[in-house]
Amino acid sequence: MTNPLLSDWTTPFKIAPFNKIGDADFAPAFDVALAEHQAEVTAIADNPEAPTFSNTVEALEAAGVALDKVLSVFFSVAGADSNPEREALQRDFSPKLAAHSAEISSNKALFDRIATVWGARDELDLTEEQQRVLMLTHRGFVRGGAALDGAEEARMKDIKSRLAVLGTEFTQNLLADEREWFMPLTEQDLEGLPNFVVDAMRAAGEEKGADGPVVTLSRSVIVPFLQFSPRRDLREIAFAAWAARGANGGKTDNRAIAAETLALREERAKLLGYDSFSDFKLETEMAKTPEAVRALLMAVWEPAKARAEADGAVLTDMMHGDGINGDLEPWDWRYYAEKRRKAEHDLDEAALKPYLQLERMIEASFACATRLFGLTFKELDVPLYHADCRAWEVTRDGSHVAVFIGDYFARGGKRSGAWCSAMRGQAKFPEVQGPVVINVCNFAKGDPALLSYDDARTLFHEFGHALHQMLSNVTYESVSGTSVARDFVELPSQLYEHWLEVPEVLAEFATHAETGEAMPQDMLEKVLGAANFDQGFATVEYVASALVDLAFHDGAAPADPMAKQAEVLAELGMPRAITMRHATPQFAHVFAGDGYSSGYYSYMWSEVMDADAFEAFEEAGSPFDAATAKALETHILSTGGTVEADALYERFRGRLPGVEALLKGRGLAA
Ligand SMILES: [Zn+2]
Repeated sequence: MTNPLLSDWTTPFKIAPFNKIGDADFAPAFDVALAEHQAEVTAIADNPEAPTFSNTVEALEAAGVALDKVLSVFFSVAGADSNPEREALQRDFSPKLAAHSAEISSNKALFDRIATVWGARDELDLTEEQQRVLMLTHRGFVRGGAALDGAEEARMKDIKSRLAVLGTEFTQNLLADEREWFMPLTEQDLEGLPNFVVDAMRAAGEEKGADGPVVTLSRSVIVPFLQFSPRRDLREIAFAAWAARGANGGKTDNRAIAAETLALREERAKLLGYDSFSDFKLETEMAKTPEAVRALLMAVWEPAKARAEADGAVLTDMMHGDGINGDLEPWDWRYYAEKRRKAEHDLDEAALKPYLQLERMIEASFACATRLFGLTFKELDVPLYHADCRAWEVTRDGSHVAVFIGDYFARGGKRSGAWCSAMRGQAKFPEVQGPVVINVCNFAKGDPALLSYDDARTLFHEFGHALHQMLSNVTYESVSGTSVARDFVELPSQLYEHWLEVPEVLAEFATHAETGEAMPQDMLEKVLGAANFDQGFATVEYVASALVDLAFHDGAAPADPMAKQAEVLAELGMPRAITMRHATPQFAHVFAGDGYSSGYYSYMWSEVMDADAFEAFEEAGSPFDAATAKALETHILSTGGTVEADALYERFRGRLPGVEALLKGRGLAA
C-alpha cells in the first residue's frame, strides 16, 4: 500500500487526506522524502551542463515537493494536536532536518553554480521576481558562509555550533532560575488579592509541593501579584527575585554566556565582511541599518518617557496618599497603575464577554475581507486532523482563491499562543498551486464560545496573516505570502486588528449572545479607551530593551554586557520606577537564539507601519475605502517578498511611514 503522505492527493483542493494518514506513516514518508530531496539537490549540484537560472535556481525551487507535503502535515499536527508519539517523531526529525539544511548550504558545487548565475545576472533577461529570487538564494548561501574557504570556513562552523550551545544553555539557565524560586504565603498575606490570583497561586503551590499558595516567577503569577498585592514588603522581595533571574551567580548565571555570545556574533559578522553584527543582521530587514533602527526608537523614546514621568508622578501621589513616603519603586508601579486603571477605565470583563461570540467574530473578520477585497467564504465539508477544525473555500468573483482552515479551541496537545501557517503556499511554478492556510488559536470552548477582547484581537491578527498568504500572487513559493522580512511580516496582521476597532464593525457583530442586542455605546468606548492605558510604562520598558539590544550588536562587542546595559540606560535617563522589559540575563529574545538579536525593535517597526497604513484609510474618508484597499492588496498583500519591503511600502503609501500615527495610537502624541 502506498503511503498516503507520498501519494497524489485527490481530495478537494488537494487538502491533505487527514482521515487516511496515521502516525505510523510519518517516519517512513519522512525518510523517503528527505532522501528524494537530497538526491534532487545532488543532481542539481552535479549537473554536467553549464549553470543557468533554470537548471540551478528554478530547479532548487521545484525540488523537495514530497518533503514539503510531509512536513506541512506533520508540523500542523505536531503544533496543534500533539501526542507522545508525535513528540518523539519531532525529536527525531529536528536534528535530521538541521543536518539536511546544513549539508545543502555547505555544498560547494551547488554554491559555485549559484555564484556563476549570480555573476551573469545582467545578461540573463530575468523578470523582476526572478532577479529577486536569484539575489535571495545567493545571499542566503553567502550569509551562511558558503563563500568562505579553509580556516575561515572551519572557524565559521565552530562559531555556529558554539552559538547554538550557548543559546540552549541560556534558555535552560533561565528556566532553572524561574523554577527554583518561590515564596510561600500565609492566608493573611492573601488579603486584597482577587480570587483568580489566589487560585493561580494555590495551583502553583500544589505544583511546587508546598503546603499553601506561593508566588512564583512565571509571568502569569508574578505580574498579577505585583499588580494586586497591597503588601509592599512582599512585592519588593518577589520583584527582586524576578529581576535576578539569570544573574544569581553559580551554574545558572547567564552573564558570561551573554558576553561570549556577543563576541562570537561580532566575529561571525566580520568573517562575512560586515562592520558589526547589526550591519549583518539588518541587511535583510526593512530597516537595513542600525541608524534607521535607532532613529525610530529615539523618536518614540522621548514622548514615551515624558508620558511615563507624568504617570509616575500621579502614581507617586497615590502612594503618598497611602501613607508611604519616598520614591515610587519598580515593585510599586504595577500596583498603583492597577488601582488607577480601576478608577478610570473599569471594564467589567464578565459583562463584556457575552457580546464577543466566537462565531460572530469569525463572521466579522470575513465580512471585513468581503468589503475590502471582495472575498467570499463558503464552509467546506472535508476531513481535517481534529473534529474542531473547520474549513472554508475562499473565492472572488466566482474564482477559487484559497482554502482557509480555522482551529480555534484550546486543548491538550496544542501549544500555547496563536499562529498562522500555510499548509501549502501560493505559487505558479512549477505549476499553479492555491494556498491552504490555517489559523490556530487557543480560545476557551463554550456554548456559545465567548471571547475576551484580547481574544477577538488575536482572531483578527491571525486572519491578517492569513490574508497575506491567501492574496499572494507570485510565481515562486520561496517568496510568496509571508516570506518577507521579519520587521515587515507583522504589518498585515497588526493592520487587520484595526478593523475590529471600527465602531460599525463592533456595532454589527458584537451582539449579545442571549438578547442579540448590540454592545452599548459606553461599553464600546471603555473597550476602545482601555487600550491606551499605561502606554508610557509599556513603551519605556520595551524601547529601553530594544535600545540595549541594538547597542550590544552595533559596534564592538562589550566585554561586560551588564556595564554596557547600565551605560545605555543612564544615557537614556531611564525612569527609576521602570526596568527593562527584559534585562540582559533574561533577554531570551536576544540570547536564546538568533531570531530577535539586533531585532527586538521589529515589533515596534511593524506597529509604526500598521498605524500609518490604517491612517491611509482614514485619510481617504472610510475604513473600507475601495481604492486604498486595492492599493493595499496590489502593493503589499499580493507581492510577498518579490520586492524590498521599503519599496513596497512606498508604492502603497507614496512615502515611508512616520512615527506620528503610532504615537497617536498609543496615546503618546504631544
Ligand atoms: Zn503575528
